[in-house]
Amino acid sequence: MYDINQIRADFPILDRTVYGKPLVYLDNGATTQKPRCVVEAITNEYYNTNANVHRGVHFLSQQATELHEASRETVRRFINARSTNEIVFTRGTTESINLLAATFAQSQMEEGDEVIVSVMEHHSNIVPWQLQAMQRGIVLRVIPMTDEGELCLDEYEKLFSPRTKLVSIAHVSNVLGTINPVADMIRTAHAHGVPVLVDGAQSIPHMAVDVQALDADFYVFSGHKVYGPTGVGVLYGKERWLDKLPPYQGGGEMIQHVSFEKTTFNELPFKFEAGTPDYIGTTGLAKALDYVAALGMDHIAAYEHELTQYALRRLKEIPGMHVFGEASVRGGVVSFLVGDIHHFDMGTLLDRLGIAVRTGHHCAQPLMTRLGIEGTVRASFGLYNTKEEVDVLAAGIERVRKMF
Ligand code: PMP
Repeated sequence: MYDINQIRADFPILDRTVYGKPLVYLDNGATTQKPRCVVEAITNEYYNTNANVHRGVHFLSQQATELHEASRETVRRFINARSTNEIVFTRGTTESINLLAATFAQSQMEEGDEVIVSVMEHHSNIVPWQLQAMQRGIVLRVIPMTDEGELCLDEYEKLFSPRTKLVSIAHVSNVLGTINPVADMIRTAHAHGVPVLVDGAQSIPHMAVDVQALDADFYVFSGHKVYGPTGVGVLYGKERWLDKLPPYQGGGEMIQHVSFEKTTFNELPFKFEAGTPDYIGTTGLAKALDYVAALGMDHIAAYEHELTQYALRRLKEIPGMHVFGEASVRGGVVSFLVGDIHHFDMGTLLDRLGIAVRTGHHCAQPLMTRLGIEGTVRASFGLYNTKEEVDVLAAGIERVRKMF
């Protein structure tokens, strides 16, 4: 069913070596490798079907448009949105959140209104709100967490006030691996009449997500983290919310009629898609979603869960190992430090062994401050990683530890 050798054979880059060592790619939280079918879909479109989409009368443009809109339907199905009107293509998670922060704050918030975020957010889910705080005087309220890396839900409840207009939280932490109880948190917010944006950058590649079951008002993710191409991502929004929001950028595609006296805007989802979309990227993204869907998100989740449990067990055998993030429900992200070895030294030395991990603050400096550290080493797993690779990582860490 889950034939790891066959899966690995779908990803040509996994065969390469680094410094003469087999590549052990454990930086999937930053970006994932691409299966051959995704690369071929992109190449094939450039070779055979490339033309600008929408409004073209000629054959190629219509074919490219059909592909692009079929990709939107693939995304809709993948997250179980009600309608393709609810699927806005963006450049990625970051652009999706910026789009929402700008348009939501502009149309739904006044000075002094509040957005609730959490202490474990990626900068992409902090800074866009801070920009709105600077421009419009909105206020950020922050959900604290326990030392284990779980959000304090009692404190969360207490943060709601009559000024709360939105909750914006990560589904899965890119540092701690914590899977936040977003369904419960959405229920709480809705009880206060407040909509919720979920940052799905680290969840979409690893688990089945049903936006209707979650009842998320907005859900965002990046194509490149789910085995698709860079430069394309998604903003899902309930239609009744997207209808209320003004356009984000102006230009082609997003208008109905333009005159110097009065311009009217296109319908959903095109209202938010100014300019030529990355129609090649959306084809690649759809191919990637089809690829993971064929493997089965539940199979991927189960496989990665076992791999992560194995990794936690192996790494904790190493003397001086400190793993950050001990949430009871967690995904395949393991952040750690060993003794007083600097994360950068550990990462650099592991690299010489062919092991790709990430080091630093992982774009989550407020979380680093909460943990009282400057950075960690982070191993993050994807659907093609193996226990043998975890063994290589554990042996590599042990080797570095003995050098110090
Ligand atoms: N949110 C989270 C939780 C992330 O892990 C990341 C990527 N590290 C982002 C947002 C930003 O994603 P992108 O750079 O693809 O826009």
